Amino acid sequence: MCVDPDWMPFEKIAQGKHIGMSADFMRLFASRLNINIVVTPSGSWFESLKQGEQRQCDIFSLLMATPERKKFLDFTQAYLEFPLVIAVSYQQDYINSIEEVLDKELGVQKGYAYAELLQLQYPDIKLIEVPSLNAGLDKVSRNQLYGMIGSLPDISYAFQERYIGELKIAGKLAQQSRLGIGTRNDEPLLVGIFDKAIASISEQQHHEITNDWIAIKYVSGTDNTLLIIIASVLTLMMLFVLYRYWRLRENNSRLRHLSLTDKLTSINNRMKLDQQLDEVMHMAKRYQHEFSVILIDIDHFKNINDEHGHLIGDYALKTLAQLMLRNIRAVDTLGRWGGEEFLIICPGQTEQGGRLLAEKLRNIIDQYAFEFFSHLSCSFGVAAYAKDPSVNALLKRADAALYKAKNQGRNQVCT
Ligand code: GH3
Ligand code: MG
Ligand code: MG
Repeated sequence: MCVDPDWMPFEKIAQGKHIGMSADFMRLFASRLNINIVVTPSGSWFESLKQGEQRQCDIFSLLMATPERKKFLDFTQAYLEFPLVIAVSYQQDYINSIEEVLDKELGVQKGYAYAELLQLQYPDIKLIEVPSLNAGLDKVSRNQLYGMIGSLPDISYAFQERYIGELKIAGKLAQQSRLGIGTRNDEPLLVGIFDKAIASISEQQHHEITNDWIAIKYVSGTDNTLLIIIASVLTLMMLFVLYRYWRLRENNSRLRHLSLTDKLTSINNRMKLDQQLDEVMHMAKRYQHEFSVILIDIDHFKNINDEHGHLIGDYALKTLAQLMLRNIRAVDTLGRWGGEEFLIICPGQTEQGGRLLAEKLRNIIDQYAFEFFSHLSCSFGVAAYAKDPSVNALLKRADAALYKAKNQGRNQVCT
């Protein structure tokens, strides 16, 4: 198959591949006919026509029937039809019919069929052959030609790439560009075969293919670069804002976490415990949700510091915090109340539940083998919410229980 290597949006050879409107049609025909169609490479439309004459290809994908071409080709019915239009420079008037401009020089592409047909129809027309559509349009923009003739899709495609504000379509010719398949005329069966393939295409398929290419070209033509730049800049700005927002959120949550965490032990600090106490107190008052608190104080901690030094004392606090953290429920809140005292808030727990947890922790600590000293114990004071008027009232009872535990010999739980 011979094709025009540079005739978008109709067709083109791009990296050895046939693309464009006619390429999509030919693929459809090939599958209807169940044959394989191979494209003959060519550098120009003119060269393609020569190849056809010399029987180097059997069919042409898309072309107009002209007397000159009928010498070596048969033609199917047209499967694409477009109006022919004249492009002129912006200052020129609109053209009602081609008769108005027969005295003007009009550009046509070398080897293109409508030139031959127009020349036949209007013997006086002054057609100037140009090597390509763009070459012709360039001449029009430099006033070396009055106008350039081409099919509507061709010219609008070229307009999208260049000539915006310079050229315009001034008129439509009565002639249509009627384009079909050309088949070698020494193989007379071919034309009938391709006519049948064309007839088998539905209106819908036809629309889909032409719209595809025309729509794509219209969109991608005009000054898309500006649009892309604006979109890119906006996207970058949005990403930046999102990034800043994300960083801010990260920082905020880090700060929040820091402000509620005890630096030494990495568990909750006094502030977090106060917040949590207010919350469970509120739930208890409003919804009668019970809860209990456990106040914990290390026994004879002064001795650890005195015997092993402050750093080992710190190690004991850290180890103890993690040991307790591992042994409470997810709903419980453990925090460092201050110095060598800890507090656990147990939502949903009665005094009995709080006592059980305290006893369990007391036992675990009592059994635990520390690294730098053999043994450490804690005393526990448990108090359950009992319609206390304030958090302080409740904590006072827990403190009293702890005091009792200390007095009764330490390493024990009191309520
Ligand atoms: P008791 O059984 O009566 O509670 O005896 P105790 O020695 O634990 O009691 P006391 O409250 O007199 O002493 C607490 C000690 O805890 C005093 C202080 O040196 C130590 N301490 C408080 N905070 C820290 C800390 O952050 N690191 C270290 N290493 N020691 C601390
Ligand atoms: Mg103490
Ligand atoms: Mg102590």
